[in-house]
Amino acid sequence: MTASPPVAPPAFGRFFLPGPTDVHPEVIAAMQRPMIGHRSGAMEQLLAGLDAPLARLFRTSHPILVGTTSATGFMEMAVRNGVRHRALSLVNGSFSERFASLVRACGKECIRLDVPLGCAVEPDMLRDSLRRTPVDAVTVVHSETSTGVLQDVAALAAVVREFDDVLLLVDAVTSLSGSPVETDQWQLDFVLTGSQKALALPPGLALAAASDRMRERAKTLPARGLYFDLISFLEATSKHQPTNTPAISLLYALQTQLARIEREGGVEARWRRHEAMRRHVEEWCERRGVTYLPRDGRRSWTVSCLNVPQGRTAKEIVGGLKQAGWTIGSGYGPLKESTIRIGHMGDHTIGALEELLALLSGLLA
Ligand SMILES: *Cc1c(COP(=O)(O)O)cnc(C)c1O
Repeated sequence: MTASPPVAPPAFGRFFLPGPTDVHPEVIAAMQRPMIGHRSGAMEQLLAGLDAPLARLFRTSHPILVGTTSATGFMEMAVRNGVRHRALSLVNGSFSERFASLVRACGKECIRLDVPLGCAVEPDMLRDSLRRTPVDAVTVVHSETSTGVLQDVAALAAVVREFDDVLLLVDAVTSLSGSPVETDQWQLDFVLTGSQKALALPPGLALAAASDRMRERAKTLPARGLYFDLISFLEATSKHQPTNTPAISLLYALQTQLARIEREGGVEARWRRHEAMRRHVEEWCERRGVTYLPRDGRRSWTVSCLNVPQGRTAKEIVGGLKQAGWTIGSGYGPLKESTIRIGHMGDHTIGALEELLALLSGLLA
């Protein structure tokens, strides 16, 4: 038996999976620092230093919770602390479907508003639904990573505010930091994200902001559980304490990534870069006659979901790129064969995206 030779890791910038995304070498390097005690002054200092940049990222004056869990954990936090009896779940793909399943899994009633894959829920549909069925919360996925659809959360939030005592719980996993999320201005009650998508960190952290309404609602709910209890998270966060032993190395990575975001010019510069990447793919598609799954105006800025051209297969396209050293995603769930997904999020550049699209042109020629 001979050991297989070590394979050199591909250079940064060629990994366009829509999560986990490519992590910049500077961020990887930050994780090599030695451990600190999770109840030490050093930890308190580290967490205190995250406050301001995180608030700027979430566009909120509320504290940002940082948890050691994948994003699904904070989806559960949203449900356990935000849904009293019954939620309306807007379902337009696999991750919004997961939000609906979580409502039921936490023992609450779930009413679904389904739209076909590739579509968004429009504000009028939401208003009709809320008029017909009283609920106390609405779940929505802002950028549905499985279909590349960007919901108009600002407009949906305005509709929710027309109703009394209804909270809006938002999964912003592939939107936050890649396209505008205005937590306070849009009056969102719970906004959550994970580390390994648009934030371009390794997986393992979830982050969230909660409104005053959400905090008051949580206080009245008896079965909040322990690990995802919003009230104890808020208490610990106000003292710059972690709730439990956190993934310390990932906190180093987060600290470094927040500094890199500020260096880029803040979250708005990041939005502009992602919008430019989306436009780039749109223009390429127009030139090549390739079509999108979502319609114009409802396309995610971080993940482009394209229909596989006639006579081709997703497997052949994804495999061809793989051979050239590049990674994109095939379709997700029921769209596995019929679509491909380019995750141009996090720290990806227009330059690398151009290289990728040139390769894709060659493959489709
Ligand atoms: C990836 C993703 C999730 C789930 O993330 P995990 O970190 O795997 O739990 C939830 N919502 C959206 C929109 C996602 O893209």
